[in-house]
Amino acid sequence: MPKVSALDMPDVPKGKLPEHLEVQRTRVVCNADAPIHTEPFHYSGAFALMGVDNSVTLESFCKNLKIEVIELTEDTMEFDMIGIDASLANAFRRILIAEVPTMAIENVLMVNNTSVIPDEVLAHRLGLIPLNADPKLFEYLSEHDTPNERNTIVFKLAVSCKKGSPRLTVKSDQLKWLPGGSELEMESPTPSAKPRTYTSFSRSQDSMPEFANKPLGVKHQDIIIDKLGPGQAIELEAHAVKGIGKVHAKWSPVATAWYRMLPEVILLKEIKGVDAEKLVKKCPVNVFDIEDVGKGEKKAVVANPRACTLCRECIRGVNEPQVELRRAKDHFIFKIESAGAIPPEVLFTDAVKILEEKCDRVICELS
Ligand code: SF4
Repeated sequence: MPKVSALDMPDVPKGKLPEHLEVQRTRVVCNADAPIHTEPFHYSGAFALMGVDNSVTLESFCKNLKIEVIELTEDTMEFDMIGIDASLANAFRRILIAEVPTMAIENVLMVNNTSVIPDEVLAHRLGLIPLNADPKLFEYLSEHDTPNERNTIVFKLAVSCKKGSPRLTVKSDQLKWLPGGSELEMESPTPSAKPRTYTSFSRSQDSMPEFANKPLGVKHQDIIIDKLGPGQAIELEAHAVKGIGKVHAKWSPVATAWYRMLPEVILLKEIKGVDAEKLVKKCPVNVFDIEDVGKGEKKAVVANPRACTLCRECIRGVNEPQVELRRAKDHFIFKIESAGAIPPEVLFTDAVKILEEKCDRVICELS
């Protein structure tokens, strides 16, 4: 903002803040060295002396909150979250990464592994393969539970590379779902006892209505698990269970979830001719453009402020500031990149429900 003497400041209507205070309240200003006005004004009486009510009520929050979806694909969603505090936007980000449950391989029963990858590394690789399974259809498996059709998905991997054959690439599509549960028998202390497997399914999962039309499996078929040389083989059973990213990153449903504040690029004065062309050239992401103002004159305009990456090239090394870079404190450009198991729009609604449950718990504890 250009500096103005206090005596020259225009009158401010009642109930409104002067422009420079409004900018401090609602914007982060990014100077060449560091940002300023980064703290939010949370205190309801922060501007009471000027007759401005800074409180947030549930009604005003609901009225001002807006979600605008900008881009939605199978695995990614970009949307604008408007009228929300950074703490809440960050809560959604953290819940998305660490608290929305998914299914992932947790236990691997290794029968044979003569590949170059050691057992524990192979088990870790299997854990990171996104599974095509809706976690809402499963229960958590606790330490004392028996693995059953409601809390466990069993996969089998049995591959070998024959002697004299070329090297074999083992991919995720070779993990076969066992709807009836484990096929491996447990060792029994009494040889005459009825053999037991590592799961206790009362019925086959493919006979359950929720899985009849949507078989369980891996989300991506071409993830490389291992490479087998001639004579090498892998035989194992992998048991997937429900979990959250807070326990292990393999259960995180997102590749990433992040946000940035909406950029605002303000021209502090009219920039014409050669200066305008220089400014346009400085920006690596084409935020500025040239507009013809007639009579062969050209001026710089802000054409695409959303693309600004805050590289600060346009404000660096200038004697007199021409551009001010701001960020809106209550407008977030949010991006969710799903790991593949759950669509991004479902992930966000799940995160909202989790935050709601947390708030309910706090209210319940307090009362
Ligand atoms: S900060 Fe960088 S990206 Fe943003 S307008 Fe200036 S030059 Fe362009």
